Amino acid sequence: MSCRKASYIIEKREVSKLSLWEKLSLKFHLMICDLCRRYESDSKILGKILKSLHKHESHAHLSSTDKEEMKRKLASF
Ligand SMILES: [Zn+2]
Repeated sequence: MSCRKASYIIEKREVSKLSLWEKLSLKFHLMICDLCRRYESDSKILGKILKSLHKHESHAHLSSTDKEEMKRKLASF
């Protein structure tokens, strides 16, 4: 599997379920590819931030404190 395909599956996993084949081939690719492992852990962090953003939005608009906090988190990547 190419890195391009691997990163596609990593992103797809954030929004939908993967087939067994996709899971296995991604797992195998991550065993041999440092770059995509790195990408995967970054995308997990990003996913968490996006989820917490979404949670905030369902209640109210982000306060300026939240925005500053978000900026700091994003800057630390
Ligand atoms: Zn790769």
